[in-house]
This record gives sequence, C-alpha cells and structure tokens, in this order.
Amino acid sequence: MILDWAREFNWDQVDTVLLDMDGTLLDLHFDSFFWMQHLPRRYGEKHGLSTAQAIPDIAQRLADKQGTLDWYCTEFWSRELDMDIVDLKREIKHLINERPQTLDFLRALGRRGKNRVLITNAHPDSVEIKFAVTGIQPLLDLVITSHDYGCPKEDQRFWQQLQQNMPFDPARTLFIDDSEPVLRSAQTYGIAHLLAIETPDSQQQSRPYFGFPAIQTFSQILHLGTGRETDG
Ligand SMILES: [Mg+2]
Repeated sequence: MILDWAREFNWDQVDTVLLDMDGTLLDLHFDSFFWMQHLPRRYGEKHGLSTAQAIPDIAQRLADKQGTLDWYCTEFWSRELDMDIVDLKREIKHLINERPQTLDFLRALGRRGKNRVLITNAHPDSVEIKFAVTGIQPLLDLVITSHDYGCPKEDQRFWQQLQQNMPFDPARTLFIDDSEPVLRSAQTYGIAHLLAIETPDSQQQSRPYFGFPAIQTFSQILHLGTGRETDG
C-alpha cells in the first residue's frame, strides 16, 4: 500500500504539509507512558492508592473526555486532578523523542520549499515542553495549537478557523497524523492528501490498517521529500 502511495505521490502537487506532533513527528511513547503509568503512579501516591488501583480511575476519566479539547488540556487535568500536570510531565521529559527520521524529513520538505505547519491538539504548555527537548521547532514554518481555536482537529470548526488564519488550498495540501478520527475530520473538510502513521508509539506493535495510506517511518517517503537522491 505505502509503496504504491510513495511511488505515485507527486510532491509537486502540494505546497503545504500539515503535520501532527505527538505520534507523528514525536514518539507517542512519552504521552502513553505519562497518562498510563506516570500520572497514575503520582496520583496514587497522593491518594494512598497503588499504581494498579489508580490506573483504571485515570483511564476512565480520560475515556470520558476522549475527542474533546479537555482531553488534551493540561489546565483541565491540573484542575480535575488537583495536580500540576506540566510539572509531572517535566519529571519524565527524558522520554520525549523524535520519531525516526523526523528531522531529516522536515529538512527535506524545507529544501523543496514546502510550507511546514504543525497543527496539534496539544496544549501550548505541552508544546513548549516538547520544543525544549527536541529539534523540531526550527524546522517548522508555523505552529498552531487547536487550543487557540477552542476546538480540536476532530471538529470541522478547527479546519474552518485554520483556513481563515492561514489561507491554504486543501487540494494542494498533505496532512500527516496518527489519529483516525482526526484524519477523517480532515478528509471531511476536503484535505486532498492524507497519510497515517502505523507506529506512533515506539514501544507498541504497529496498528492495523485503518483506511488511509500509512507509513512506519519517514524514511519510506524521505526521498520524495527531497525530490532527487542527489539533493541531500
Ligand atoms: Mg497525534
């Protein structure tokens, strides 16, 4: 599937590349570990529970908010759990990492003159932590968090506001994300070119095909980003 996509995709037909952050440019392992291990452990310590006891409690709270902006909001969870989520994230910031070939891919897009736009549901506090410990920020032309718009990428209003904020041609845009609901939302809005990530979390198995062409690592499309092998 991806071989066909990579062979047929003509990079000249896009001028804008919209990029998700967590699970796309960056390894989702940090986020998975934070919400499923680190936060339950620290929450358990606060309330006299074992980590194993706290895990289902946190998981249920998260499930109740899935797909909403609150789910991604450090301020919401800090209030909800009465804990400083940003501080807790910093405690394990050594787990934050780019996915393989992320920086090479961003550089290649830059050399081809593509407009590289980060669109993330992550809260600005989380973006700041990720930017501080990775090399992606200087390789992005624009950074947009859905918290600025008040609705997540799953919501059509996100795309309408993005269009007003940063005029772009959906027919000449490629969007790369690891979330199926988000990719479907982009498809509904009319983004012409969509690509999924098969292995967003380096510590988990690849996910089954879910209806979009998907890559495991950027190496699979890196040469397309440069156009010519001699380019870099
Ligand atoms: Mg993601």
